[in-house]
Amino acid sequence: MREKYLLRCPGCGRSFPDRYTLDCPSGCDALLRTVYRERQLILRDLPGIFRYKDWLPIEGHLRLDAGPVSYESVGLARELGLSHLTVVFSGYWPERGGRMETCSFKELEAQPTVLRLREKGAGVLQVSSAGNTGRAFCQISGLTGAPVVVVVPAAAAGRLWTTVPAANVCLITVDGDYSDSIAFGREVCSLPGVVPEGGAKNVARRDGMGTVMLDGALAAGRLPDCYFQAVGSGTGGIAAWEAAERLVADGRFGLRLPALHLSQNLPFVPMVRAWEAGRIDIVPAEDMPDAEAAIARVSADVLTNRHPPWGVRGGVRDALAASGGRMYAVSNGDAWSAGRLFAETEEIDLDPAAAVAVASLLRAAEEGLVGPEEHVLLNVTGGGYERAAEDLDRYPVEPSLRVRAGEAFAGDVRDAVRDWLTEQAGVAARA
Ligand SMILES: *Cc1c(COP(=O)(O)O)cnc(C)c1O
Ligand SMILES: [Zn+2]
Repeated sequence: MREKYLLRCPGCGRSFPDRYTLDCPSGCDALLRTVYRERQLILRDLPGIFRYKDWLPIEGHLRLDAGPVSYESVGLARELGLSHLTVVFSGYWPERGGRMETCSFKELEAQPTVLRLREKGAGVLQVSSAGNTGRAFCQISGLTGAPVVVVVPAAAAGRLWTTVPAANVCLITVDGDYSDSIAFGREVCSLPGVVPEGGAKNVARRDGMGTVMLDGALAAGRLPDCYFQAVGSGTGGIAAWEAAERLVADGRFGLRLPALHLSQNLPFVPMVRAWEAGRIDIVPAEDMPDAEAAIARVSADVLTNRHPPWGVRGGVRDALAASGGRMYAVSNGDAWSAGRLFAETEEIDLDPAAAVAVASLLRAAEEGLVGPEEHVLLNVTGGGYERAAEDLDRYPVEPSLRVRAGEAFAGDVRDAVRDWLTEQAGVAARA
């Protein structure tokens, strides 16, 4: 194969070149995958995740030093009675080289996504999230100058901040809930030149997150036996599985896929329920009853995705089944204690979602679901907020445009976004 990579559809088996393609051209209900020319992992002398450039769907790289950092745990490992615990940390922790200043592994997704889009000349990205994803895309926009349209509920806009000025973000606030802003974001993508970021369908997002598995396996010198992560969409779990399959094919890291141990935060645990019931589809009435009330009660709200890529071919369910994995439902109280234990033993504060993963590992160790000699990779998906607040500047992202729920994307509003796009095109031409 001459190209660095192709996209392959696991539904129909077709391979084709990438045009920032999110769906199979034949319409299969399947997640496209990257297939790279290099079968063995070659490390590049580049910063951050671009060390793993050969297994990212990009040609160049960004000069950003925000990658996952891996180390062998001493304190937490002793507490859990584990001999081989590799922590892979994504967040802000300068003593260990952690430079993700918005404090979550969403920066692993945002970097290759922004670069892939730029290289394919596909247009301007649109993202609907006021959580860690929205913050990460604003930050990478601030660091690279890449234009991004972010659409969020007005009430959540205060959660978007960056540590560098982000002059190329068009923040649109919608006076409504998340569904209203997602619907409005979709409308904005009807403008020529605006492209939806794509979520789990975006191979750059998954392969960016897959660098956690690569980094952890390199640090330990082998694939882990078990991989622990808290999931909302489960994209990180799919990414870990895909990266592990590549390492198996490489041949130097072991031949067995790590079992995925994925956790959600009670009372909102749709994937745990669907898994335990053996369901291919998530059935809202069974798997997420009273969704709104349940979502309001979890401590880690980044784990409350209502439409995870569960039963789709190549999705979370396939990843769990292929790896012999399991799922955990974790209470707020258990997550809180686990977060405190982590802060005491490893000396960094955690994102509430990462605390859920630590709680699942605690339970697995207690119940003998992982043995003391097994090699464990703990994906600490976010942390270091307290350190970041002490060390770094914080710039709130200011709204460019405010709309009402259900307001049509037409007239003045549409013109305002079009003018912003024209201005951005001018900025790009002058750069
Ligand atoms: C998004 C997020 C998760 C869940 O990730 P998915 O793999 O997309 O489900 C976990 N932890 C943190 C800190 C996150 O931001
Ligand atoms: Zn197909």
